[in-house]
Amino acid sequence: MNKVFADLPVTIFEAMSQAARDNNAINLGQGFPDHPGPEDIRQAAADASVNGYNQYPSMMGIPELRQAIAAHYRRWHALELDPMSEVMVTSGGTEALTSAILAVVEPGDEVIVFQPVYDSYLPIIRQAGGIPRLLRLEPPHWRLSEQMLKSAFNRKTKAVLFNNPLNPAAVVYPREDLELLARFCREFDTIAICDEVWEHVIFDGRKHIPLIAIPGMRDRTIKVGSAGKIFSLTGWKVGFVCAAPPLLRVVAKVHQFLTFTTAPNLQAAVAYGLNKPDQYFHDMRKELANSRDRLTKGLESIGFPVLKSQGTYFLTVDLSPLGLNETDEAFCKRIVTDYKVAAIPVSAFYEKDAVTTVVRFCFAKKDATIDTALERLSDAVHRR
Ligand code: PMP
Repeated sequence: MNKVFADLPVTIFEAMSQAARDNNAINLGQGFPDHPGPEDIRQAAADASVNGYNQYPSMMGIPELRQAIAAHYRRWHALELDPMSEVMVTSGGTEALTSAILAVVEPGDEVIVFQPVYDSYLPIIRQAGGIPRLLRLEPPHWRLSEQMLKSAFNRKTKAVLFNNPLNPAAVVYPREDLELLARFCREFDTIAICDEVWEHVIFDGRKHIPLIAIPGMRDRTIKVGSAGKIFSLTGWKVGFVCAAPPLLRVVAKVHQFLTFTTAPNLQAAVAYGLNKPDQYFHDMRKELANSRDRLTKGLESIGFPVLKSQGTYFLTVDLSPLGLNETDEAFCKRIVTDYKVAAIPVSAFYEKDAVTTVVRFCFAKKDATIDTALERLSDAVHRR
């Protein structure tokens, strides 16, 4: 069998969710909310199903959704995208990323990837014959640096994969970092595949800046989004790609043989959702920020050093000052069995030179779920 896939472990998210089930634990590992999601959007999907959105739609996505995506980004980021030649609907961000990587990367191409890295990127780069150049981001700030980029960019650098806001570090990158990355992309004629699935899940009045909006990046960025994250409906797997026509045309050629298309009833409901007024998005952020604050305060009062979350459903905790003398992975194994709470070791997001002292918790949960998890963890800073 193909070694790229045969030798891969089961993803950490599946493994920790299984450990959570086996131990009857509260699952603060995998990132999904435990509330049902916005009722009007779910109703829109039901109505679309009943009213005829059930046969193969266009492989590019239903026109209503492509128009809604373009209108949404015009409203939020003043981006001008042509819905017919610059927007495509995919089956989740994952499929969008795979289509983008396979469309860009050829054997021998170097692809710059930042660790902590989302786990779908590397196998697909390798399947395409690409050579990942791994760079390492460091807590507590996880920022880019000129020196880091200088050490990796060269004439063989075909693409860079960049995730902003960054899962699991919960950083929303400032313009300064984006401009730095853009400068290297321009200098080395590199395509940026920008995973922005968390673009709306940001807190404390922060602004998300799409890399495609930075000068010089409009024609060299493939922007990936996901309705699953925007509407807290992670199982829907409706994603989108925005890119200039010469790029999107090729990404579409891959997509046509990966999934070809995406459930049209869900597409119709996402189109409805993207057109919702700004207030909906601000309220969603506020609610999630409250959950973040609840878990942050609770963990801090137990004694965990929490690294502040700027976005995503996650916060991270740095174990190093606690003197527990165990890795993040050992800690996660211990708390799922002894305290019945599942979390994710951040070392799982590194292939080399892992940061092994940081653990990720998901706070997109009901207050009662967070409170019970905190009660269970009340003496987890000490080893039993
Ligand atoms: N990229 C990142 C950084 C993610 O966190 C996720 C979901 N956890 C995805 C991509 C995949 O998105 P989707 O579920 O829409 O495929």
